[in-house]
Amino acid sequence: GFEDSVLICDEVDPILNKILVDNGLKVSYEPEITKEQIIEKISNFNIVIVRSRTTITKEMIEKADNCKIIARVGVGLDNVDQDAAKAKDIRVINAVEGAMNAVAELVLGLMLSLARQTARGDRAIRNEQWLKKELKGTELRGKYLGIIGLGNIGKRLGRLARALNMNIIGYDVIPIDEEFAKEVGLMKADLNTLLQSSDYISIHVPLLDSTYHLLDAEKMSTMKKTAKIINTSRGGVVDEDALYNALKNGTLGGAALDVFEKEPAIGTKLAELDNVILTPHIGAQTKEAQSLAANVIAEKIIQILRG
Ligand code: NAD
Repeated sequence: GFEDSVLICDEVDPILNKILVDNGLKVSYEPEITKEQIIEKISNFNIVIVRSRTTITKEMIEKADNCKIIARVGVGLDNVDQDAAKAKDIRVINAVEGAMNAVAELVLGLMLSLARQTARGDRAIRNEQWLKKELKGTELRGKYLGIIGLGNIGKRLGRLARALNMNIIGYDVIPIDEEFAKEVGLMKADLNTLLQSSDYISIHVPLLDSTYHLLDAEKMSTMKKTAKIINTSRGGVVDEDALYNALKNGTLGGAALDVFEKEPAIGTKLAELDNVILTPHIGAQTKEAQSLAANVIAEKIIQILRG
């Protein structure tokens, strides 16, 4: 077994703890640990593990003199200061496989819910209103789905949506997987063409300087008036004020958001609007995704320690 000590800073699937302990590692499981406590004790650990509650800052990393690995039990690495880690020769690892199907299925559900306004119908019945006439929806079959970012999640979504006979338009900054493109009959497009042609627009890019407010007021003004935006990537990728205005003025058809510029997004003014569906960052919140991510991270750590 290994001698290394591990600090787990967030709630993670218990399988991770078990695999690490079975391999002889000493694990401190502290899912409630504060920022100050991390700074105080991070130097005692060789491996630091987070999910999404904890942000690993430059200040923490500067104190992490014995740290070899920072692991994120999930995909997005925007809660780890990667430059600071690099400067200290610390490996940063994540689990890209975990969330792929979970997020893609959530998007599919959100598109169906936008098309048929199921959330609104549910709210109405609870308010003793029967909106049958008002809730005439549309079908996904034959509609154009624009996918921005065709990595793991974007491609999985493309395959699921193709099964519903949607037409798939794709845009990425890197060459798109040819096998995938063939399989779904992908129409490759630049971003502007995608935005102008799509009935649904789903975003699957990481949050970077280059993707911050990728969809802003100007971009939104080029979309169809009936277009619906689904964002399960990161809040900063869509300008929420611009989205609110476009939805309120009827220049956009609807939106479903799982991620927000500020989380928790309690009190968001988007909640005033009926053509919006809001979920509390649950993209990867499935039993399957969490246990897969935990297994992947455990395996990666063991592999790195073996050298
Ligand atoms: P991925 O790295 O496999 O794919 C991202 C793709 O985006 C890549 O192909 C990349 O080239 C492309 N891209 C980067 N910049 C772009 C740009 N400016 N325009 C177009 N394409 C661009 O990542 P993934 O596993 O598919 O995940 C995508 C994002 O989803 C993650 O970065 C994460 O932030 C988010 N995510 C959210 C949840 C959730 O709970 N809602 C869960 C997992 C992941």
